[in-house]
Amino acid sequence: MRRCPRCGSKAIGKIGNNQYYCWDCCVEFNEKHQIFNVSEDGSLIALEG
Ligand SMILES: [Zn+2]
Repeated sequence: MRRCPRCGSKAIGKIGNNQYYCWDCCVEFNEKHQIFNVSEDGSLIALEG
């Protein structure tokens, strides 16, 4: 079971090819565990570790 790399939640939705969304902390992430914030206009902002 895939988990959110940020908060560890299992409430994960697949939104695209190798792209996932965490319903708990509202971030997107990919297979490489890069995490993105979704801004109000829908664009993605990479979060630095
Ligand atoms: Zn999360």
